[in-house]
Formats: sequence, structure tokens, C-alpha cells
Amino acid sequence: MKYCAKCHCGEITLEMEHDPMMQFMCHCSICHQRIGTSISALAWPEHEINIDGNLKSYKIIGGSGMDMYYYYCPSCSCFIYNKPELLEGMAYVPAGLLGDQIEFKPTVELWSGNRPNWMKKLPL
Ligand SMILES: [Zn+2]
Ligand SMILES: [Zn+2]
Repeated sequence: MKYCAKCHCGEITLEMEHDPMMQFMCHCSICHQRIGTSISALAWPEHEINIDGNLKSYKIIGGSGMDMYYYYCPSCSCFIYNKPELLEGMAYVPAGLLGDQIEFKPTVELWSGNRPNWMKKLPL
């Protein structure tokens, strides 16, 4: 199955030929700060993501203490993916970027101790 994603304005498009390696949620304080709540995301090896368009990026220190890179559309600022130095070569794409193309079924929760009280634990 081929997966397609795009930013708000449509300048950036992504295509992935293979299934994601992982579907997960992250409850860390950095995700909360960035998007307002926990994130739902899919992990692909970065080299399996075909990107059309030029992304901009910035770097912060992630929860692991190692660098975390964030990539976004320079026109609409839509967040496209992030890339942890800790898991080199992996990229995390927000599930919402794929629209309703997938039924998101996360199997992993990161930083679950930081899950908002109103959010249910995953049915693992
Ligand atoms: Zn855009
Ligand atoms: Zn996070």
C-alpha cells in the first residue's frame, strides 16, 4: 500500500511505499508544548519517505537528552515530521497528515506517565 501525506497549503507532499514500522502516541512535554496535546504518529525510516518540496527545520534537545530535529513547510508552517538523533534514520510523521487514508491503531505509548488525565490508556 502506498501512503500519501501533505501539508496544509499543499506545497509539501510525502509518499511512502511501505507500511510504517510503528504506530504510536507520545505524551512527552515537548509534544504537548508543540501541538497542545499528545501526538499520534507513524514511524518510517527516513529514506523510505519521498518528499516533494523543500522543508525547513530546527533542532532542540529532546527528552532523551539528545538532539531532535523538526521539519516543517516554509509556507504554511505545518509540521511534517521529526527525527530523533536517538533512533538515527527514523522519522515520525503525524498520523493526521495522512488524512483519513489510514485507521490509526497505535500499539506503543511513549512517556505514558505524562498522559493527560482525560485521555484513555491504549487498549494494549
Ligand atoms: Zn504548506
Ligand atoms: Zn513527544
